[in-house]
Amino acid sequence: MKVSKAGAVVAVVTLALTATSCGESESDRTISIGIKFDQPGLGLRADGGTFSGFDVDVATYIAKELGYKPEQIEFKQVYSSDRELMLEYNEVQFVAASYSISEKRKEKVDFAGPYFLAHQDLMVRAGEKDIKEAADLNKKRLCSVSGSTSAQNVKDKVAKKADLLELGGYSECVVALQDGVLDAMTTDDTILAGYAAEQQNRGKFKLAGLRMSDEHYGIGVKKGNTDLQKKINAALRKMVQDGSWAAYVKKNFGAAEFHNEPAPKITEGS
Ligand code: GLU
Repeated sequence: MKVSKAGAVVAVVTLALTATSCGESESDRTISIGIKFDQPGLGLRADGGTFSGFDVDVATYIAKELGYKPEQIEFKQVYSSDRELMLEYNEVQFVAASYSISEKRKEKVDFAGPYFLAHQDLMVRAGEKDIKEAADLNKKRLCSVSGSTSAQNVKDKVAKKADLLELGGYSECVVALQDGVLDAMTTDDTILAGYAAEQQNRGKFKLAGLRMSDEHYGIGVKKGNTDLQKKINAALRKMVQDGSWAAYVKKNFGAAEFHNEPAPKITEGS
C-alpha cells in the first residue's frame, strides 16, 4: 500500500494524541494547588517535604472531590502578594492559603467559599506591657506582610501612624519580633496562634485577643472559571456536612488555644 506523506503525518499525529489521552487518564493526572509553606496550623512544609495544616487538609479534600488522589497533588508555594498572579498565569488551579475574600481581589480572581472566618489580631512578646489595643500601635514598630489585608487594614484604619514594616512572609515577622527589631506583628488570629503554639516558641509570645476585622477565607480560582468554583463550593459543603471540617479544625487549631467561629455559609458564586 502506498501511503501519502500527508496521510502518514495524520496517522502519526492521531497516534500521538491517542497516546496522550490514554497516558493522562487517571494516574498521570496532577493538580497544582497554591498554599503557604511557612504558616504552622494552616500551610506548612516540613523538612523532608511533608505538608500539614488546615488549608492543606481542605485543599486535599477538595482535590479528592475533583478526582485526585493525594499523590496526584503538587503543592506550590504562594506568598500573600502573588496569589492573584499565580492564578492569572495558570501556575496553580486553585489557592488555599489564608486567602481572604475581598472586593478588590475579586476584580482579578474568583473565590469559592468562604470556608473559615478568622479575625485580625496582634502578637507581641510575652513580656510586652504597652500594647493592649490597636491605638497603642501608633508609636510602635509593627510588622505585617505585603499584599495582605492585614497590612492594608493597618494603613487604612487600624493604626495609620504605626511604623509599619511589610515583609514577604509572616515567619520573617516572627523572627524580627523575637529579636526585638519590632514591637508587634499583625495578621489573622489563626496564623498568629499557629506561631505562638509552636514548640520552639512556647512562652515567648502572646496574642492581644483583638478582633480588628472579619477575614472570610475563600478558595481562589482563575477569574471566570465558574465550573471549578461550583465544584469547589459543592466539595466545601460536603466537607462540613460529613464532619471533616470540624475534624480539621480540631486537628490543626486545637493545640493553639484558639476559639474558632462556626463554619460559615457559602456565599460566593451563588
Ligand atoms: N487573610 C489575610 C489575607 O488574605 C491575611 C493572611 C495572608 O496574608 O495570607 O491577606
